[in-house]
Amino acid sequence: VRFWPARAGSVTVPAPMRFLLGFLVTACAAPRAPAPAFAPPPIRSAQPAMVTDPDPEPTAADTPPRAQPKLAEPLGWVLPVDHGVRADRAGEGEFRAPRYHGMHNGVDLLAPLGTPVLSPCDGRARAGKNSSHGKWLHVACELPRRDGLQRTLWASFFFAHLSSQAFADEALHSVRRGETIGAVGKTGNASAASVAAHLHLEAIVHETEASALAERHSGRDQSDTDAAHELREAIRSACLEPNGFARRGNELWRARRVDPVVLLECFGADKPAYTRPAGEMAEASRRWSAIYTATSFDIDTEFVPSAGDQ
Ligand SMILES: [Zn+2]
Repeated sequence: VRFWPARAGSVTVPAPMRFLLGFLVTACAAPRAPAPAFAPPPIRSAQPAMVTDPDPEPTAADTPPRAQPKLAEPLGWVLPVDHGVRADRAGEGEFRAPRYHGMHNGVDLLAPLGTPVLSPCDGRARAGKNSSHGKWLHVACELPRRDGLQRTLWASFFFAHLSSQAFADEALHSVRRGETIGAVGKTGNASAASVAAHLHLEAIVHETEASALAERHSGRDQSDTDAAHELREAIRSACLEPNGFARRGNELWRARRVDPVVLLECFGADKPAYTRPAGEMAEASRRWSAIYTATSFDIDTEFVPSAGDQ
């Protein structure tokens, strides 16, 4: 919502909704109270849900009942706290940081063991376990339609090194935006004492829900998608450039993978304010402003562009 103001000629937001959003943005431009640890879901669009699951031969496991029609509301942040990006003796947690296998495929969000992991959308999820990612989950999210995006696209969000999962089998499960789907841990190759506890978060862009749900997040697969190209252009023109939002000296993309922090912010996540953790974790905490720049908002404290942008 915040990065994608409605424009004349836009068909993605009906006029009454635009007025309401404008009112809300104006209201929010007054001196702000600190953001709650996790904001409630915002107002839903009155538009009918689009039927986007074309799977012609659904199996029982592929079609759990939805909690409600999908409305592609703004994405939610994935943790109730924000301690920035992991940076410890074992390595840097930023997107595309050097790794023994080449390049980091996600962002490592520093967080204490046991911190709840929250679903960024109403969607469907599956869980699993392997030696490198440990206990993992992925959630397929319909990306909200915004200016610059010509059609509905999907993102598969991947969460690794969890200590627990809301479900442990690989069947598909319906999840709600903000629902606790797991907890931060040190499973898989994050188990060493030198690695600070964190959530490995990864996002891959797809054209359909079926392909997003089929995504395996294998680091060996660095193929590209048309959806990623389309999203790249939409984010650039409608979110990054208007807000002076960028990485310091690094890319936001790796083939079909996008920097998940940028994806969440550009699609409306209400990130909690950054706080430096207490104790030993303080050493491993890297602020957002060390990695990203933004001219229209304070990336460390609020991730909210100034009212002038509206
Ligand atoms: Zn990682």
